[in-house]
Amino acid sequence: MFLKRLDVAGFKSFADKIQVDFVPGVTAVVGPNGSGKSNISDAVRWVLGEQSAKSLRGSKMEDIIFAGSDGRKQLNVAEVTLTLDNEDQHLPLEYSEVSVTRRVYRSGDSEYLINKQPCRLKDIVDLFMDSGLGREAYSIIGQGRIEEILSSKPEERRKIFEEAAGVLKYKTRKQKAEQK
Ligand code: ATP
Ligand code: MG
Repeated sequence: MFLKRLDVAGFKSFADKIQVDFVPGVTAVVGPNGSGKSNISDAVRWVLGEQSAKSLRGSKMEDIIFAGSDGRKQLNVAEVTLTLDNEDQHLPLEYSEVSVTRRVYRSGDSEYLINKQPCRLKDIVDLFMDSGLGREAYSIIGQGRIEEILSSKPEERRKIFEEAAGVLKYKTRKQKAEQK
């Protein structure tokens, strides 16, 4: 499994539709301060279901919609699609390519899609659980995260190992079953 493409429109500083193609190997995003490098990684975390506006460096979810600039009106919808190569069936779906889309409107309405089919946030979270790529997984290591991991409590650190070992899915199911 690897990231193939990221399509972004109306998200943060990206008013116009942009497409980022990734190839196997190392990809680096370079650019001057404030040019939108971190906004790209925010877009990846957002489409994977990030719910915390603060962790996306805003105060409310609406802050991720293009807010307007000199001579350019604000937009009312933001949309991000992440396309993954799934030739190796790492994600439990029988498709060689899997795309996830998230859309949010200024009104607060939001939509999630898997391969263009509307779904729930839970479906996206479940799809990526134990894949290493979920919204809280270890594939995206933000600034300060390494220090946070090193100084965290053993129970917190254990969660990272559990995700890596692929047991989080079963643990979550067990907890849900016990609640019922
Ligand atoms: P640095 O090198 O300093 O880390 P960067 O390339 O990571 O910079 P980002 O933090 O990705 O830059 O982008 C910041 C820019 O995005 C700022 O100019 C900010 O005004 C703009 N921005 C953030 N949210 C929005 C929004 N909702 N609408 C318009 N622009 C936005
Ligand atoms: Mg940055």
